[in-house]
Amino acid sequence: MKFTDLGLRAEILRAIDAQGYDTPTPIQAQAIPLVLAGHDLMAAAQTGTGKTAGFTLPILQLISSRPARSARRPRVLVLTPTRELAAQVGESVRIYGQHLSLKTAVIFGGVSMGPQEKALKAGVDILVATPGRLLDHLGQGIANLDGVEILVLDEADRMLDMGFLPDMKKLFARLPKERQTLLYSATFSDEIRHLATGLLKEPRSVEV
Ligand code: AMP
Repeated sequence: MKFTDLGLRAEILRAIDAQGYDTPTPIQAQAIPLVLAGHDLMAAAQTGTGKTAGFTLPILQLISSRPARSARRPRVLVLTPTRELAAQVGESVRIYGQHLSLKTAVIFGGVSMGPQEKALKAGVDILVATPGRLLDHLGQGIANLDGVEILVLDEADRMLDMGFLPDMKKLFARLPKERQTLLYSATFSDEIRHLATGLLKEPRSVEV
């Protein structure tokens, strides 16, 4: 299978081609059609498998092909455990979305709120964030999650290990019930399965 077989738009294929990729990795080949079809997903995948492009590519395709629920508010929320992963995911979104006119913001703790606030106020389509700092922005009335169509939990097991569950629960309470949810985790522990039960609707499973 080639990327050109997946039904992705020309702007996205051009960005993939510029990276020098023509064949999807196993997780990409499995996940991309499921995400494009609108399914919730529970994916067991380690870093290095190509998981980031596996959710980024179909998400870019989906949101660039339909109108936003509310203009200027995040349509996609990707939660990550660390700033490093947030920055990495943000970079992937920018690379693969470079020929689409979508705005991306990356938000994490340990740096000043000001520039992040400015980015949120300017309007964001895809928001990549660590849970604690996003909650701070919500508390200040700067971020609004009413328009989120797709939620991604990246490295969900690490987020739980790092004690983010209470923050995550507060964030979930602010998200629309009607949305697509993708959960990525290196392992499917009982804790992860429990989390998934409350968050995912008829999820498809992908494992590599
Ligand atoms: P990830 O598992 O998402 O951290 O990706 C691991 C690495 O694989 C990253 O450097 C990607 O740029 C690269 N990569 C992603 N998809 C492909 C692909 N289809 N072919 C070759 N490399 C890829």
